[in-house]
Amino acid sequence: MTYDLVVIGAGPAGMSAAIKAAKAGAHVAIIDENPVSGGKLLGQLYHEPDSGWWVGRNIAREMIAKASSLGVAIFRKMEIWGIFPKWNIMLNNGERLTTEHVLIATGAAEKAIPVEGWTKPGVMAIGAAQTLTNFHRVKPGKKVVIIGVDPLSLSVAQELKMAGVEVAGIYPPPATEVSSDKSNPKQIIQGLSAMAHLAPNALLKAAGKAANHPTIKNIAAKCYPSFGVKVWGIPLHLRKTITAIEGEKQVEQVRITAIDGNGNQKNGRTKTMGVDCVCISGGLYPLSELAEAAGCDFVYIEELGGHVPLHSPELETTKDGIYVAGNITGIEGAKVAMAQGELAGTAISSRLGLLQKGSDAISEAQVKVQDARANAVITFQQHIESGREKLAQCWHTNVQTSSGKG
Ligand SMILES: Cc1cc2nc3c(=O)[nH]c(=O)nc-3n(C[C@H](O)[C@H](O)[C@H](O)COP(=O)(O)OP(=O)(O)OC[C@H]3O[C@@H](n4cnc5c(N)ncnc54)[C@H](O)[C@@H]3O)c2cc1C
Repeated sequence: MTYDLVVIGAGPAGMSAAIKAAKAGAHVAIIDENPVSGGKLLGQLYHEPDSGWWVGRNIAREMIAKASSLGVAIFRKMEIWGIFPKWNIMLNNGERLTTEHVLIATGAAEKAIPVEGWTKPGVMAIGAAQTLTNFHRVKPGKKVVIIGVDPLSLSVAQELKMAGVEVAGIYPPPATEVSSDKSNPKQIIQGLSAMAHLAPNALLKAAGKAANHPTIKNIAAKCYPSFGVKVWGIPLHLRKTITAIEGEKQVEQVRITAIDGNGNQKNGRTKTMGVDCVCISGGLYPLSELAEAAGCDFVYIEELGGHVPLHSPELETTKDGIYVAGNITGIEGAKVAMAQGELAGTAISSRLGLLQKGSDAISEAQVKVQDARANAVITFQQHIESGREKLAQCWHTNVQTSSGKG
């Protein structure tokens, strides 16, 4: 089958792009490996300070209905295993879709943090706990601890508590060669400034705000109470870590060890606590293999979450006709992904000749992305704006030096 646009990934970015392009008159297909469209939206459930409850599954449902009514061909339970020039999209059932325009909106994946005993049944990634609780409506455990202090773990801790799960504590991971800053209380306190809006706790807000000052950051890490600080009634610990997950056949208890203000373990200061589930949160990175398979150029930008396909302000990559939107371009929340999807859908509609001459639709869509970023409730990457600027600079340099596209 041939389409004007093939979208890979039916998350908020892909769905928004498909709807935008179909509305403009494009013949669009959208493909996802999951049986239900919506991507990570399906697990999202939280209260926004100004606009009430964000219920991701309802938003996904509305987008699916909209896309269907516009005639978008929705392929479910189909994995894309390759993209070949120019452009053939290969589905795992042997089908092949052809198109001149591809949007890769494959989202993000979770990073792992190894902890002794982490392969036992009852240990899971924080995203799995979120999907189990909010989408499948199944409690991941009765009494849970969370390893990893970041916006996603704080947000899921609240969701678990609302679902009636006892969240016994949130702890930084033990310091190892792969845990980097995530085990360092000073760095976590610095990061709290980006999480302050998630934590309705005066002490945390103050610590987060003050954390940009190096002296205050040191003092805050040193003076942080050893019993933790409560966030929505959940103890958030920065002076203790989980050094082992124990149990005969499944999780039965965790070993908790005291740490100093730099994250170093204090010998002999260890106790155990009975739990039946451990959730690990190690951060997110852009899921970009398909862009690599298509031959797109990449840049590594720490502030965006890792390797991202180099792309223009209109979200086109270095390969003619291949666009990217959403978390593949850098880790941000669902509203930014939706705005980027609309931008990509608009830019592709323009390339297809479906926009009126002189239309401002692309620049308007770009402004919407900036607005969504400025008003984001969850900020996953502390310095996202500077990451976006670095990427724009890389693109500019690329345009100046390259002789043409592949
Ligand atoms: C575990 C986790 C939890 C998150 N929780 C939140 C949260 O609570 N709030 C928030 O604002 N943001 C959250 N995010 C960030 C979230 O990714 C964005 O909010 C938003 O969903 C990104 O949209 P997207 O369309 O780029 O990607 P996604 O929503 O991830 O959608 C990508 C889609 O692409 C599909 N896909 C990937 N590869 C293939 C392939 N090869 N073939 C076919 N289909 C493929 C996936 O199945 C998925 O449905 C979370 C991210 C993760 C990873």
